[in-house]
Amino acid sequence: KLYNLVQDLKGNIRVYCRVRPFLPGQANSVTTVGNLDDGNITITSNSKYGKESRKTFTFNKVFGSSATQEEVFSDTQPLIRSVLDGYNVCIFAYGQTGSGKTYTMSGPNDITDESAGVNYRALGDLFLISEQRRDTIAYDVSVQMIEIYNEQVRDLLATDSANKRYPLVFFLSNGINVPDANIVPVTSTSDVIALMNLGQKNRAVGSTAMNDRSSRSHSCLTVHVQGRDLTSGSRVRGCMHLVDLAGSERVEKSEVVGDRLKEAQHINRSLSALGDVIASLAQKNAHVPYRNSKLTQLLQDSLGGQAKTLMFVHISPEPDAVLETLSTLKFAERVS
Ligand code: ADP
Ligand code: MG
Repeated sequence: KLYNLVQDLKGNIRVYCRVRPFLPGQANSVTTVGNLDDGNITITSNSKYGKESRKTFTFNKVFGSSATQEEVFSDTQPLIRSVLDGYNVCIFAYGQTGSGKTYTMSGPNDITDESAGVNYRALGDLFLISEQRRDTIAYDVSVQMIEIYNEQVRDLLATDSANKRYPLVFFLSNGINVPDANIVPVTSTSDVIALMNLGQKNRAVGSTAMNDRSSRSHSCLTVHVQGRDLTSGSRVRGCMHLVDLAGSERVEKSEVVGDRLKEAQHINRSLSALGDVIASLAQKNAHVPYRNSKLTQLLQDSLGGQAKTLMFVHISPEPDAVLETLSTLKFAERVS
């Protein structure tokens, strides 16, 4: 109970940390992740002089490498259900490339019932609850899927080739942030799977010579929910943004040039803009700097106020990643 009280006092921002397991072939490797208990995680690193140091970070929840998709989802569920009651919700996956962001949000490449990520489960849950309430409230659910790459917004559900290529202008209108992007009504999990597949395909179409665009753009699945009370006729509207962020790894300026440098600068800037917004919400600052990136402008009506935010920060367990791991956890500590 006290734990909930503390969370409430801190407002509507929650930070969960998830540790990726070692991948096949990495088995029995040395890990940097020490004790996990009660929301604490301890990281061990070695300086270049061989001196060992430990640092402990505290979050609302820490999921170790053996946590299942089901366990991760069940701690997210209350937040997701609040969308049906008219709340706006943002769920972010943050972390370096390869740390498990896409796994948490979507799942592995071949998704099964067991391995499906938060976004499939979230939609499934919304359908389930709206079915349970169907004698009292009629819900309409629709989705949009966009990508932000180099500060340009693209529609991932576009079916005509022109829309796939051109960036969209966006503005806030009736709770819909990108009115020009396709908005598709869905009634079942299989509808959602089909749309997500289309989104993934469009993401690949957009990619240039640079391989794996997905790690250098933010993708956002937005779920719009509208409910109508069957007796009173009153309406309630909520929306949920499920955001798979671009990889947070810092690239050495000396190592990259041209397009790659531009990408890196856009990513760094937008991730720190997101960090600034969430940190100032957490500190209840009067001024919240939404305008510093497309991402925070786009999500403005779902960050702050009554809206609920959940940040999943992901870390890789191997020693090679320890500097990124520490920088990820520092970012997360600042926003929690
Ligand atoms: P990111 O999106 O952060 O770049 P991915 O989600 O693609 O990282 O994860 C990298 C690899 O690790 C993928 O092969 C993915 O399936 C695997 N992986 C990530 N998290 C887990 C997990 N919790 N359990 C099993 N495999 C995972
Ligand atoms: Mg990914």
